[in-house]
Amino acid sequence: MTDRSTELADNLARVEERIAAACAAAGRDRGEVTLIVVTKTYPASDVRILHGLGVRHMAENRDQDAAPKAAACADLDIRWHFVGQLQTNKVRSVAGYADVVQSVDRPKLVSALSAAAVRADREIGCLVQVALDAESGRQGERGGVAPDRIEELADAVAAAPGLRLGGLMTVAPLAGPYAGRQQAAFERLMEFSSGLRAAHPAANMVSAGMSADLEQAVAAGATHVRVGTAVLGVRPRLR
Ligand SMILES: *Cc1c(COP(=O)(O)O)cnc(C)c1O
Repeated sequence: MTDRSTELADNLARVEERIAAACAAAGRDRGEVTLIVVTKTYPASDVRILHGLGVRHMAENRDQDAAPKAAACADLDIRWHFVGQLQTNKVRSVAGYADVVQSVDRPKLVSALSAAAVRADREIGCLVQVALDAESGRQGERGGVAPDRIEELADAVAAAPGLRLGGLMTVAPLAGPYAGRQQAAFERLMEFSSGLRAAHPAANMVSAGMSADLEQAVAAGATHVRVGTAVLGVRPRLR
């Protein structure tokens, strides 16, 4: 193994231990939680190493970086998740490789994704990104819709050809009443998920939790955690 392979294997093992421990503490089956490794700013060679270590879900937040990386790894069975704010002029590119877009936050994006998915003859999973700080009217910079608009967007996704409504995603807010209260934030997201599933039973994905707060997300009931730094290392610059 190369030094980098050893480093990633060690980091991944530590993250796996954390997820397993969080599942055990919450009385949940390890199989209920999917690890998505966020490979943004890291090269395709790291994606290849992670795939060799058994990781099958990877995430990116910028199309400019993601598109060439996905192309370089097209021979691998990887499910790509797009987790960044997405401009409609990037949608056609993203629809070429993304299996899931976790950052759906406006009707215009839904129609653009639908058209691109149909054109590419692909089905794209969509998560509505919820801004929990928007409840307080002090929405931060982390994207997403205010909770009172989840239903409208979910219905739009569910009705759109080429798209599959997967569920909800959030990033723990830095401002507002949930700042510093990750578990409460993720529990709030779970309440919105219950409401969503009443109308759309198959939309059962709940994507929450990153390197710093994956335990709180698993405790709250998240089905997917998105981990970057804890597996790949501290990124050269924040995005
Ligand atoms: C970068 C990123 C992550 C991973 O964050 P880490 O703190 O590095 O684990 C998760 N979700 C989104 C939306 C991101 O942009």
